[in-house]
Amino acid sequence: MTDLLVLGSGIAGLSAAIRAAHAGLRVGVVTKGELATSATRYAQGGVAAALDAPDSSALHQTDTLVAGAGLCDVDAVHVLVTEGPRRVRELMELGAAFDTRNGVLELAIEGGHSLPRVVHAGGDATGAEIERALADAARALDAIDVHERCFSVDLVVEGGRCVGVRTIDATGRAVELRARHTILATGGAGQLFAVTTNPPVSTGDGIAMALRAGIAVADVEFMQFHPTAMDHPSMPRPLLSEALRGEGAVLRDEHGVRFMVDEDPRADLAPRDIVARAIARRLVARNLDHLWLDATGIADFPEKFPTIWRSAQNAHLDPRVDFLPVAPAAHYLSGGIVADLDGASTMPGLWSCGEAACSGVHGANRLASNSLLDGLVFAPRIVEAILAGKDAPEPTGVMRGIDTRVVAPELTAGPVSTITREELQHAMTVGAGVLRDAASLETVAATVAVDVDARDVATHELRNLLTVARALVASAQVREESRGTHTRLDFPETSEALAGRFVTRGGPLEFVPLPAEVPA
Ligand SMILES: Cc1cc2nc3c(=O)[nH]c(=O)nc-3n(C[C@H](O)[C@H](O)[C@H](O)COP(=O)(O)OP(=O)(O)OC[C@H]3O[C@@H](n4cnc5c(N)ncnc54)[C@H](O)[C@@H]3O)c2cc1C
Repeated sequence: MTDLLVLGSGIAGLSAAIRAAHAGLRVGVVTKGELATSATRYAQGGVAAALDAPDSSALHQTDTLVAGAGLCDVDAVHVLVTEGPRRVRELMELGAAFDTRNGVLELAIEGGHSLPRVVHAGGDATGAEIERALADAARALDAIDVHERCFSVDLVVEGGRCVGVRTIDATGRAVELRARHTILATGGAGQLFAVTTNPPVSTGDGIAMALRAGIAVADVEFMQFHPTAMDHPSMPRPLLSEALRGEGAVLRDEHGVRFMVDEDPRADLAPRDIVARAIARRLVARNLDHLWLDATGIADFPEKFPTIWRSAQNAHLDPRVDFLPVAPAAHYLSGGIVADLDGASTMPGLWSCGEAACSGVHGANRLASNSLLDGLVFAPRIVEAILAGKDAPEPTGVMRGIDTRVVAPELTAGPVSTITREELQHAMTVGAGVLRDAASLETVAATVAVDVDARDVATHELRNLLTVARALVASAQVREESRGTHTRLDFPETSEALAGRFVTRGGPLEFVPLPAEVPA
């Protein structure tokens, strides 16, 4: 029997699979595309880690907590920043080649970081290099069985325990795969929105599977919108990494005026939520599609940012002389499947890591380049916990205060409809995008209160998007405040009374206040 079934082959899934195989476990990796198909391979900027002085894990922790707008779990962030440097070095030992100068790792600065700490590869092709290194390593291990083009449909649950997954395999057959332990590492859900940087596979499948099984999910109202996706018809939208602003690029309005200097003391390097809101407000007020990123001051643009250079060339733009059109795009889901500090979910036998999980490190707003690190740090903790005999969640990290009993799922889907993915994405963009209010959320809630007849992969994905959309909208409706990436035009202030998480198991929402005592 398989010891460990890993659903997803991005940085989180493959990091777990490789570590488990090295430890002698028999591993299956189930992935719906090719092995390297993932959001991971699109990552540009890099991985944040406090590798050497003058940086420190304490500084990295402070920056992460500030960006998270009061909702990070301090213990989880502590794990992230203290274990991160070791995991980055292990990734290099595995074969990932990060950019160096004179034998020393080059470090970039991005929004919200107090100093340069972001390692990168191929200039702005960090994710592609990481995914290559991990996929090569996984393929070389006999203990890993790779199931490509194999779509995970639903968890197999027996006696309240996850014992595997039902899939549709590459030939279209329904196949059940069983394992002692299963990890949901299926990534995010950017495809909920019409404009996104995420690839087509980011349809929230793992989160929807968890909700259908009655497993706790939290913080899903916090979808981060990247402020500077290139306004261009291609999909996913080409990302104009924050690293450009780290290198001196600045935002300008339709008159060429720099506006971030009036918005925040950190100006163009303010955290993403602040920059995205500043852009979105101007787009709405002035009825515009985009503003501009002026990167004309960056020397050696083609060498430093080859991926972005190619995207600009495809749009017939030369970043050395042209301003680049930018608008916010759905980018990163901070919430997900509630996981304790070892990645255990509320269901015995089921674990989660990476963007699908809510590890608590991102709170209400992820700090740039902390998400690759999230997968890199929490995946091996799952394997170590399994090897140590752990089998059920403990009250650590975001699991504190959460009822760990497995409950019967109470899904409220609604009548079967003929809604399309595009209609769902449009409704979500208008109703639950960067700027939200009670009326917009009520409209989109009605649109997504339907189900579809799931027969094939495309309709299963649509059903999953609807499931996650309902959870996101319901949480956004009750979060009557603005915090992090969640902006309510009708509740512009942050409310102390809402310092906590909305948790759902598919049915009603439960509010779990943050623990009163912040552990040292
Ligand atoms: C354009 C872009 C740039 C980014 N830049 C950065 C950056 O510079 N730094 C940073 O830290 N983060 C960045 N991010 C975010 C980061 O890339 C992701 O958060 C991270 O890669 C997520 O890793 P993951 O392993 O959790 O999920 P993914 O890499 O998305 O992997 C999920 C895997 O699950 C598979 N899967 C999904 N559903 C199913 C199913 N039903 N059955 C089987 N398989 C399934 C997918 O095919 C995929 O293999 C960026 C994201 C994007 C889109």
